[in-house]
Amino acid sequence: MKKILVTGGAGFLGSHLCNLLIEQGNEVICLDNLFTGQKKNIEHLLTNSSFEFVRHDIVNYYDCEVDEIYNLACPASPIHYQYNPVKTLKTSVMGAINSLDLAMAKKAKVFQASTSEVYGDPEEHPQKESYRGNVNPIGIRACYDEGKRCAETLFFDFYREHHVDIKVVRIFNTYGPNMHPEDGRVVSNFIMQALRGEDITIYGDGEQTRSFCYASDLIDGFVKMMNSEKKITGPINLGNPIEFSMLELAELVLKKTESKSKLVFKPLPADDPVKRRPDITLAKEQLNWEPKIKLEDGLDQTIQYFKQLL
Ligand code: NAD
Ligand code: UDP
Repeated sequence: MKKILVTGGAGFLGSHLCNLLIEQGNEVICLDNLFTGQKKNIEHLLTNSSFEFVRHDIVNYYDCEVDEIYNLACPASPIHYQYNPVKTLKTSVMGAINSLDLAMAKKAKVFQASTSEVYGDPEEHPQKESYRGNVNPIGIRACYDEGKRCAETLFFDFYREHHVDIKVVRIFNTYGPNMHPEDGRVVSNFIMQALRGEDITIYGDGEQTRSFCYASDLIDGFVKMMNSEKKITGPINLGNPIEFSMLELAELVLKKTESKSKLVFKPLPADDPVKRRPDITLAKEQLNWEPKIKLEDGLDQTIQYFKQLL
């Protein structure tokens, strides 16, 4: 039985990860300040003696005995990470330092949930891990993008300087049950709007693209990465390489929910990436990982989840 710390464990992805790690027979400490996470996501685990919830802010060091650390703590939706940008930067940077210090002290493996946002508004398409990105360092997304870039730097400096066993993945847009209904990201927004019969808000002309991965596929990749050979440090892209425009996504959600909602066009937020699609060759080669769940099927599960919330 391994002792595993999951920072951000009450959030969307963190809660799926806690479920899987508990199912696999591990002891899990879920650390979260509940900024965007929900107790409801982990409520069913609270009676399990192998699970512990700790309300704590990762900006401050947390000490515990641990074999593995998954560092997921950080708001991920643009509206939430832009709400208090200085705090977002502190969470990414101090959170990385505190996770790495703990890993060094306990000789634990440490995993970083990095992001496709390190590529910014990409000029290379699809994005390979070797691409160094096109981030505006002073824009409204920079608190997140640069925070995550700095966290990657810290991971690789601790690896080179202190030989910490690191695992860095770059996550592309992921969706599924346990997303907060007011999360603000596109999949949850479109589904909630369609189910409530409200207008579907398309930012810009809706021709911008994203590639959507279902949560269970992604979490499977997390665990494969953590259990990979020591020499595999990443960064490795994890995401679904099938690309959709936001208009295509809106049409699909309308069809699946049988909603009569209308599309309305709103201004495109600053620095919103025009296109995004992962090259997952490395994940296939090094982790034998690729996503299995089609957007059509993942949307059905996600729509069911939001329906039951209403
Ligand atoms: P989320 O907002 O649902 O989860 C983030 C969790 O971190 C929440 O539970 C929140 O309360 C917690 N948190 C935030 N600041 C904290 C702090 N200072 N101390 C302790 N806990 C804190 O988002 P998510 O989609 O589950 O994202 C999880 C991780 O994956 C994030 O690091 C995010 O950057 C990364 N990621 C997610 C996606 C995606 O598409 N879901 C894409 C790229 C990267
Ligand atoms: N988007 C949209 N309507 C919404 C929310 C988002 O058209 O109600 C767009 C947004 O402008 C972006 C894409 O959907 O181009 C994905 O946005 P999200 O916030 O989900 O993730 P990110 O931009 O970080 O990839």
